[in-house]
Amino acid sequence: MNAEPSIQAKLLDLAAVDAELTRIEHRRKVLPEQQEVQRLEAERTSRKDAAVKVEILIDDLDRDIRKLEGEIDAVRKREDRDRGLLTGGSVGAKQLSELQHELSSLERRRKVLEDDQIDVMERREAAAADHDHAGANLDQATADLADAERRRDDAVADLDVAQQRCISDRAALTGAFPEDLLAAYDKQRAGYGVGAALIQARKCGACRIELDRGEISRIAKTAPDVVLRCPECNSIMVRTKQSGL
Ligand SMILES: [Zn+2]
Repeated sequence: MNAEPSIQAKLLDLAAVDAELTRIEHRRKVLPEQQEVQRLEAERTSRKDAAVKVEILIDDLDRDIRKLEGEIDAVRKREDRDRGLLTGGSVGAKQLSELQHELSSLERRRKVLEDDQIDVMERREAAAADHDHAGANLDQATADLADAERRRDDAVADLDVAQQRCISDRAALTGAFPEDLLAAYDKQRAGYGVGAALIQARKCGACRIELDRGEISRIAKTAPDVVLRCPECNSIMVRTKQSGL
């Protein structure tokens, strides 16, 4: 294949644009801003779970409190009834002693229930504080995530702009190449990642292999319009004044 040396040199411009496109694609895949969004999404989920857990605990404690209140109320009513009977004066001696006995056992029972109630209410208070804390944590995580998403969107928009610029630069360049040269370049780029590179310091600029003396002298004798391929990676090897041949 043959092409004017000036056209061959333009392949280096095309290769530079394509390298930039590859960098942009790579950056898109490993975007730190996206990784940060993912990290904060996980963080937010775990804080949400923590908040839900505290809400469930509070519901349970409220139920316990209501149950204890009902039990205490029932004991009180029974105590009132017994006291009413005692003060009514219409009970016999045997019933009197039974009522006094029941009253003292009801009182003990009520004390136990009231102690339980205090205990549960203290836990309810601690859980309420945990709930406030979890809510604040969740709000913070939500705000952090929104900020990170904004930064990610900005970064993606920057990449889109850079990519668009490369695509138009590429379109402006490709018109200059003969079809067969561009096809050879694109095929090589698709398979190897690099389509063309400069020969510099006796090395193929694509794979960096050092070209031996025989190869160098063969290249030196080859007409400048002959398109050279690297014996190692098959990339188009472009010769310019910088090649030092
Ligand atoms: Zn090579």
